[in-house]
Amino acid sequence: MHIQAAHVIRFSETVAARVKDQRDYLTELDAAIGDADHGVNLDRGFSVVLTRLPGLAETDIGTILKTVGTTLVSTVGGASGPLYGTAFLRAGMVTAGCRTLGPAEVAAALTAALEGIQTRGKATRGEKTMIDAIAPLVDAFQAALAAGDDLVPAMRQAVQACEAGMRATIPMLATKGRASYLGERSIGHQDPGATSAYLMARAMLDVLEGM
Ligand code: ADP
Ligand code: MG
Repeated sequence: MHIQAAHVIRFSETVAARVKDQRDYLTELDAAIGDADHGVNLDRGFSVVLTRLPGLAETDIGTILKTVGTTLVSTVGGASGPLYGTAFLRAGMVTAGCRTLGPAEVAAALTAALEGIQTRGKATRGEKTMIDAIAPLVDAFQAALAAGDDLVPAMRQAVQACEAGMRATIPMLATKGRASYLGERSIGHQDPGATSAYLMARAMLDVLEGM
């Protein structure tokens, strides 16, 4: 199976709808270890993304992803805006001009997104950030492809790993971002960014399974 531009549009719409739906939950998670704005930040950005998608129906996947990225950078704010924005921009760069993506190209886009977040935010695994959900997703996706899985089964494995990574942030001590100001008191709470990363991963899988 290949991803089409229509999948990427549907994915962006689905993330926007679920972020709106989960806005208060994401903000509550951020209230526990941050400044209670993560859901509000993302909802603001993806609401603007929604208004830009209709103009993108005839473009390539790279253009769609880059448009989402620039929109997030300029509208989300907080730490997560530049980080997610960079992720979408980097994924858009490696898919520039592509109308469809095969499994290997999806792996390249996911890897570029992860590297973009790491370059921008300087976090590594185990610091209680979105990296703890996204890095296992990329690893599991690549491992599944290497084992011979096609796109959708590989994405299913990847989303499971992402969910486990999100849950694994609960006992972690935060050493990056606002949550690190809390020191030991950050332990015992699920990271908001890891949670929104899982929301996006789940949306990607649901779109691929549903179309
Ligand atoms: P802010 O912390 O500026 O209020 P948000 O609340 O929107 O921004 O996002 C917080 C999330 O951003 C955290 O839960 C964490 O997952 C992520 N985050 C913060 N700093 C970093 C970083 N350096 N690298 C990766 N992710 C980070
Ligand atoms: Mg915050």
